[in-house]
Amino acid sequence: VRFCRFDRDRLGVIEGSAVVDVTSLFDLWPVWPPVQGDWIARQLVGRIDEFENALSGRKRLSLDAVRLEFPLVSPGKIVGAPVNYRAHQAEAQADAKINFGRKIAQIGEIGLFLKAASALSGPADPVRLSFSERRNDHEVELVVVIGKEGRSIPRERALEHVLGYSVGLDMTVRGPEFPTFRKSVDTYAVVGPWIVTADELPDPSNLKLTLKVNGEERQNASTRDMIFDVPALIEYASKFYTLYPGDLIFTGTPEGVSEVKPGDILEAAVEKVGEMRIAIAPDYTA
Ligand code: MN
Repeated sequence: VRFCRFDRDRLGVIEGSAVVDVTSLFDLWPVWPPVQGDWIARQLVGRIDEFENALSGRKRLSLDAVRLEFPLVSPGKIVGAPVNYRAHQAEAQADAKINFGRKIAQIGEIGLFLKAASALSGPADPVRLSFSERRNDHEVELVVVIGKEGRSIPRERALEHVLGYSVGLDMTVRGPEFPTFRKSVDTYAVVGPWIVTADELPDPSNLKLTLKVNGEERQNASTRDMIFDVPALIEYASKFYTLYPGDLIFTGTPEGVSEVKPGDILEAAVEKVGEMRIAIAPDYTA
């Protein structure tokens, strides 16, 4: 299914051009004692068939008439894959405004980074540009949403731990600081417009990613060019930390990153997942 959150506190399944309200299928209060992970994602694991069978007779709204939100509530962590496409490595190594004099190493050498969960932003929300005197870039990425909890997950079993996929924008302030710092600004982790569950998208290894700025195409690539594919990323990340329901993995951006300015409109899309139109709002720190 395509699972969404809408109008702030409603949970839905997309059916054609409608949203079916499935809020009543969830326990809406966090549990006590608390559990790790996102409490909506935790309730989706293993229940997709039940959801599909529970759609008839429920309230339906036009997709045009609702406000889509970031599809989960409180992911425990956002894992980021740095330099996971060779052509992006080459462009970053060639551009001093991206590399700030550093050698751009590949993912296997430098590991992963984390983005702050407070940076999460939904498909109807603008990115509030910060530090606009510096270079701020778009990075369109496939986002993996973890379902089943696991640690030290072998690549052969990795996709069993995936709840689904979303489109992501790993917004980035360029500069000499740690990536985790520059990529954790409020609203710099855009995820949406919904989660396509893995039963509908069993193979994430050949999906087209595109990004346009003001209608002009800047990024156009395929997930087949990842250096660490989705199973490898899950294997690698879970060697270091337990992956919990709702944890997000930003899988890295392909070539074509470029600067954004206040007033720009981004259109980010991943084939078979969805597309988002995101406004860049004026400088938030000014
Ligand atoms: Mn990135």
